[in-house]
Amino acid sequence: MAKTPPPNPYDFVPFEPNPPQRHCPPQTQGTFDPNLYTGELVCLLETETPLFIHLKQERGNRIPRRFYQRGGRIVIPATSLKGMVRSVAEVVSNSCLRIASLKESDRQPGYEMSNSYKQGHFKTYKRWKISWPQFEAMHAPIPLVPEEDGPPYPTGSGVVPKGFWMCQTKNNLCPCCALFGMTERVEDEEAKAAPLAGRVRFTEARQAGNNKEVKISIPHRIGPPHPYHRPFYFDDNNKLLGRKFYYHHADYTNTIKQYEDVKHKDWITVQAQEGKFVFTVRFHNLREEELAVLVYSLMLEDDLRHHLGYGKPFGLGTVKISITEMRLMHFDDKKPSRYLDYDDQPSPSIWDTANATKWQDKGMRLWTERPGAGAAYNKFKEILKYPQTQNFRYPTFQWFRDPTKKNITLAQYQSNPSVRK
Ligand SMILES: [Zn+2]
Repeated sequence: MAKTPPPNPYDFVPFEPNPPQRHCPPQTQGTFDPNLYTGELVCLLETETPLFIHLKQERGNRIPRRFYQRGGRIVIPATSLKGMVRSVAEVVSNSCLRIASLKESDRQPGYEMSNSYKQGHFKTYKRWKISWPQFEAMHAPIPLVPEEDGPPYPTGSGVVPKGFWMCQTKNNLCPCCALFGMTERVEDEEAKAAPLAGRVRFTEARQAGNNKEVKISIPHRIGPPHPYHRPFYFDDNNKLLGRKFYYHHADYTNTIKQYEDVKHKDWITVQAQEGKFVFTVRFHNLREEELAVLVYSLMLEDDLRHHLGYGKPFGLGTVKISITEMRLMHFDDKKPSRYLDYDDQPSPSIWDTANATKWQDKGMRLWTERPGAGAAYNKFKEILKYPQTQNFRYPTFQWFRDPTKKNITLAQYQSNPSVRK
């Protein structure tokens, strides 16, 4: 007798009832403001399960796939780290929901937009060249056609609750766009989009000793693409269920075994990494609450972990981040301090050591004490919990095709084992 399938590997952290508070970020170009926080965080990243990040040029063919490298050294690119921390900070600070623009999504290989999609329906697989996990990773089926009272360009406004639309202009930004940067949207597609640099910079992460390579085979293409199951993304009012995150797994090797009986499968072997990495986060002119959000979004809590890289639905890329050193710039007087380049290393005499745990705690309290934030916080803790006691897997192709399952919501699927059969 077949066992009851486990829950789905992703779920959604719901939007808070109150929309993001938007404001104009500090205008302090060219100086370090003594009333704001400037400094750096030295971070240690430890893998709990193997981590894999594609070496981009080889995405196509080479087997096994090699880990990302620069100058012949294995590194975790800064963009991957920043993206991971930002997606957490967006929840923590109740920020806008960023959605790939129509143009970007158009460039994704393997599918094209159907006419029904352009009319406000959903992306469909036209060419079936992408796998279900890839499709999932893109969290693709979001109509980018604006509502009548929404912005006149794609923001995902059709399905994103109103106040959570992606930020549009530089002087009115949600906490994360103000902190990490954004690109101003312009109506005229030909006009140049104006980027706003953030006040946080990540270095790439380097191996910190005793790392080892592990070869892992994971499902890449699980049969033909699954029909898109609307109630796994949207509520009854056609609004997105929230922000998508993947669960960690009790034992990723058992998760991968669960897919061995799938027909038409296509597996790839990757050279994943286990061990430790170090990187630095530099920041300038942060407000107190911004620094608290940044530190909490890096460290999380003792029983929570980040998810990074490829193979998240299969339990890869569970990582722990600790801050080993926190330094804040101190000012002898209250005059702004000039600098040449944010990337220059200031002399050690200007640093004070700070207690990261204090800032982590402050970040957690900002979130948990915000009115209405409880449901989001609790769901976030449930999804990112580690260690985890169970594994997760996607419903089968047969399940998606079963007409009696048509209206099963993600919440029902997750909580009721009988509907997973
Ligand atoms: Zn924003």
